[in-house]
Amino acid sequence: MRLTLLSVALAYAEIRSIDAACRQLSVQFPNDLFFPNSSNYTAEQTAYWSETTVLTPNCVFRPANAAAVSAGLKIVSKNNSPFAVRSGGHMPVPGAASTDDGVLFAMSAINTKKLVNNNVAQLGPGQSWLTVYSWLSQYDLAVAGGRYAPVGVGGYLLGGGISYFGSEVGWGANNLVNVEVVLADGRIVNANATSNPDLFWALKGGSNNFGIVTRFDIKTFSVPHVYGGNLAYDHTQVSELVDATASFVAPGGGSDDNNAAIVPVVAISPATGAISGSLTMCYRGSDPNPAALANFTKIQAQSSDAGLRTFSDFMTLSSSQGTRGLRWLFRNTGVKVIPGSISLINETFTDYTLSNIKNIESVKGATVMTSIQPITVNWLKAAKAAGGEPIGLDPANGAFIASLVICQWDDASDDDTMNAYATGVVDAIAAAAKKAGADYPFVYLNDAAKGQEVFKYYGGGTSLAKLKAIQRTYDPNGVFKRLEASGFKL
Ligand SMILES: Cc1cc2nc3c(=O)[nH]c(=O)nc-3n(C[C@H](O)[C@H](O)[C@H](O)COP(=O)(O)OP(=O)(O)OC[C@H]3O[C@@H](n4cnc5c(N)ncnc54)[C@H](O)[C@@H]3O)c2cc1C
Repeated sequence: MRLTLLSVALAYAEIRSIDAACRQLSVQFPNDLFFPNSSNYTAEQTAYWSETTVLTPNCVFRPANAAAVSAGLKIVSKNNSPFAVRSGGHMPVPGAASTDDGVLFAMSAINTKKLVNNNVAQLGPGQSWLTVYSWLSQYDLAVAGGRYAPVGVGGYLLGGGISYFGSEVGWGANNLVNVEVVLADGRIVNANATSNPDLFWALKGGSNNFGIVTRFDIKTFSVPHVYGGNLAYDHTQVSELVDATASFVAPGGGSDDNNAAIVPVVAISPATGAISGSLTMCYRGSDPNPAALANFTKIQAQSSDAGLRTFSDFMTLSSSQGTRGLRWLFRNTGVKVIPGSISLINETFTDYTLSNIKNIESVKGATVMTSIQPITVNWLKAAKAAGGEPIGLDPANGAFIASLVICQWDDASDDDTMNAYATGVVDAIAAAAKKAGADYPFVYLNDAAKGQEVFKYYGGGTSLAKLKAIQRTYDPNGVFKRLEASGFKL
């Protein structure tokens, strides 16, 4: 009974602290603070990729600049009010970038876009990669951003970043030269190789544990053209797609060419058991027939829009593939590249799904997919050469696959079923990899599911203690730990 009274009292105190923070923000920022039942509130509250992540914050704060973020952070901190931070809203993890109990900082209005010295792009977290790529195309430049262009700049870079250029330039975050960040006490600081270098290191994969980022300065590089496009395969061609993928990742295969990148997907419809395949491929340069992709292009796909085009046109084309507004779930595990890894992933995915299909066959609108994301040795070497980051994977351990399972479905009533399926199938892939000697203890943060432990694998287990120490230095009162208790925490 006393416990119940105590929890009621605590809940009441929390509601009061949130209300106070919302009220004070609305006094100081009357044009940028939105309460429920206003069109601005609804626009920000629903600006998420996956319906699973649309929550109901008590109010939405849309700061116009770093100074406003600083003032807002001081207000939530002083009132002990919980809060969440959202940039592009693409992380399909409920609560990672929104909240049912607190203030939502929506970063949409901080959308700087400036080219400096023709080699660094200054980007606000409110940008999506789509707008960045189309803006940079006038200079024939690109950056190591997302392969699905509507994804936000903010979350992507703070989680590492798998781009089409990783074998040349490492994780997206390895290309940062400076990050402007608002700390828990409201200070606006720059983090780079010489100023707050420990914080700079931590931000390149440390997610939302250190501050609210208001600007990313990232290296640009020349990409006038790519050969790229999207291809679809029917069930009779899936084994050819899997074989081509295996050849691509094998030593001496297409992945040895730093200009080549692929996103192969095998999909199963639980309602019918039908299997199909697809591929998005990208080759940097003007070669209309790249040898690195020949194993794919020789398959007579059911449809293909592959061709030479600007990178921005390619990204616009491939980004029209995704669907917003459904319920989505990502879950992943590392698998070492050894002979047989690719078929192991695909066979385990297919066998597990078909033998558990009774559990998901009646889930409305369901599709389940597996995607192979090759992380090459050259990628890990480039990451290290760029100064490293907390992800800290040793190139000497070889290449690996960030093996991703993606689920989509329609109704909230099926959330538990799909979560259980995703956990089961990814566990099965990890177990099969271990049995085959292909275990690679790593979970990629940006593609992780709620509850997956990501930081314990960083740096082969050595980064977490360092990240926690850096957090204590820059946030001694634990504001980001206590009040922004969502997303991937240390
Ligand atoms: C369809 C789709 C395709 C994808 N493709 C790729 C891909 O090609 N490569 C890849 O690496 N990943 C990819 N992802 C994963 C994506 O990179 C992550 O979900 C990433 O976090 C999204 O960034 P965002 O800004 O949209 O996220 P949000 O959902 O807004 O935020 C994600 C997390 O970052 C924190 N955060 C965001 N902005 C800030 C900030 N300014 N300061 C502090 N914390 C912040 C949030 O609090 C939250 O915890 C894809 C995701 C989807 C849904």
